[in-house]
Amino acid sequence: MCQFDRDRIYHFEPPVDNPPRYALSDLQMPDRRVALSLLAHPDDAEFVCGGTLCRLAEAGWEIHIATATPGDCGTMELSQEQIAEIRRKEGAAAAALIGATFHCLEERDVNVIFDQATGKKAIDLFRKVAPTLVFAHPRLDYMLDHEQTHLLARRAAFAYPAPNASKLPRLEGSQVPWLYYCDPIGGVNPYSGEKVDATCRIDITEQFGKKTEMLVCHASQREWLQAHHGMDEYVEAMKRHSAMRGDELAVEYAEAFVQHMGHPYPTTDLLTELFGEK
Ligand SMILES: [Zn+2]
Repeated sequence: MCQFDRDRIYHFEPPVDNPPRYALSDLQMPDRRVALSLLAHPDDAEFVCGGTLCRLAEAGWEIHIATATPGDCGTMELSQEQIAEIRRKEGAAAAALIGATFHCLEERDVNVIFDQATGKKAIDLFRKVAPTLVFAHPRLDYMLDHEQTHLLARRAAFAYPAPNASKLPRLEGSQVPWLYYCDPIGGVNPYSGEKVDATCRIDITEQFGKKTEMLVCHASQREWLQAHHGMDEYVEAMKRHSAMRGDELAVEYAEAFVQHMGHPYPTTDLLTELFGEK
């Protein structure tokens, strides 16, 4: 057991074969209520966790939306710098709709690599934000930027509370956060084609309008896809996905997650305790 473990600066539940469901009284609700999504590209959060981030914001949580890249390959016409500038602004505008702060690690689109330099950027971001709840891509997803960003987020979540992990100040309330993996694209494991079994589904029917508003802030992508597909496929794809997960809860729209249950992450199902399953 490392020094970090011995410090017990997080709540640790011993691993069990079948993690139990927790009653509200057992919940270790953090005093610090800060949620961070670290995903690969601008607009990923709006597709896979925007409704839940909106619910958290409504519940008084501080929200941060971070991307590994500014989506600088998402164009047929503009230079990398030109499209990156546009997409940073779109990401910030979408985040602002729920009072969230937008961040970008400034890696390059289709070139995200889990290495020491990029890992340091991610850990420093976590150190500044000090999240107690984190949303990341799943380990298996349709493109490698997502899978590499999964690794960056997972390592940063584990490392950031350790005093020596970053030279930045360690904020009060820093802890190994609750960690939830968002759906892969389409909710499908790209290697097997099978639908991902969620451990947690959040009803976002009331937040769906705001989630859509956030998504359409990414006008450069929407217009590109509209021109390419001849229809508003951007919004339609998000709607289909949210409705597919909504069906599982018998509500109109939902988002689905898989909670990371390994040591030393908190294993109470914070999202379900906050918002319930229907
Ligand atoms: Zn993406």
